[in-house]
Amino acid sequence: MSGARKPGRNFLFVPGPTNVPDRILRAMHVAMEDHRSPDFPKLTRPLYERLKKVFKTEDGQVFIFPSSGTGAWEAALTNTRAPGDKLLASRFGQFSHLWIELARRHGLEVIVQEEEWGTGSNPERIEETLRADKNHDIKGVMVVHNETATGVTSDVAAVRRAIDAAGHPAMLYVDGVSSIASLDFRMDEWGVDVAITGSQKGLMLPAGLGIACASKKALAAMQNGNCRRAYFDFTDHMKTNPSGYFPYTPAVTLLHGLREALDVLDEEGLENVFARHHRLAGGARAAVNAWGLKLCAKEPKWQSDTVTAIMVPPGFNGADVIATAYQRYNLALGAGLSEVAGKLFRIGHLGDLNELMLLGAIAGAEMAMRDVGIEVELGSGVAAAQAYFRGGTEIRQVAAE
Ligand code: PLP
Repeated sequence: MSGARKPGRNFLFVPGPTNVPDRILRAMHVAMEDHRSPDFPKLTRPLYERLKKVFKTEDGQVFIFPSSGTGAWEAALTNTRAPGDKLLASRFGQFSHLWIELARRHGLEVIVQEEEWGTGSNPERIEETLRADKNHDIKGVMVVHNETATGVTSDVAAVRRAIDAAGHPAMLYVDGVSSIASLDFRMDEWGVDVAITGSQKGLMLPAGLGIACASKKALAAMQNGNCRRAYFDFTDHMKTNPSGYFPYTPAVTLLHGLREALDVLDEEGLENVFARHHRLAGGARAAVNAWGLKLCAKEPKWQSDTVTAIMVPPGFNGADVIATAYQRYNLALGAGLSEVAGKLFRIGHLGDLNELMLLGAIAGAEMAMRDVGIEVELGSGVAAAQAYFRGGTEIRQVAAE
């Protein structure tokens, strides 16, 4: 391809930001309005109740910040914790790492349990550490539900069971940035105390909203939440949100988009959204299997339904595959981050997409791999994914081998 113009749609297959459906783009195409007008709450107030359904909570309280997911990370911890508080976190990828670093910058003491990248939270180790913490010094357990960097999903329910089995009162903090609204997530049932997400993944919006949901226990913990905070203070939102307003200028267009995104999710049905992501992930894994390549996820139980991280064979650089896919085929694939930089590339398959779109990405990845010299058979991944999409269970067994 020559020239600066890249005709046709860019195939956006990074694991966020994801494709924004045209109807959501249109819903955001609005004139600016007064966010203190008497009409504004008609837009904003229903959003909180509707988001609670996405988090699957009755009692939780939702906070919407004009920020990315990182802001919601910060809000979750600073509102409920004080400097010096101890937290327990497993580290198995770039995002679990960054959340730990953020906590430390706020003066929190994080006990880190290192897990191999390609695996996830280890409930047995968590239980063991909590059992040993006889004085209950550990105030919270942090879990990244879906580690976007490695394509690994952790079992949050099992972490809750581990906390309970240890008879420990620690709160459960969950990063659901690349899971909420794409993978099954159950705030109340799993006893999650603060869950957070961002707008640019399963919610199919541009980046710009950081969303946190706090349980009753988390709201009570705000009494001891002495970390420095201003912009992300829940208290200011609690004063203004019930009447439909914000303590500062909200991201008005994104709120219009959010209303439309919630309509889109309602129309498909959350459970169908999860099933679609599972089906698409199965197709991606069937392709990887046919290419004879390995996933970063070490075992089937870790495999994420929103992002597939594919190891490139030794001697090759994943960054070359990504650059070639982008330059030659207008396909954006996700990069390997930090410890896995160059070792893998990622196909994000979350948000608004279907089988044919994913087949396009698989075809592009296949061509880009061949272009850089990786010996995959052209068409093999596409054919395997097609067969999977047509045949379901039969092919799934192949992918799991
Ligand atoms: N957590 C996870 C799991 C992520 O995937 C990301 C971003 O991709 C973040 C946190 C950080 O979110 P943001 O980039 O929106 O600040």
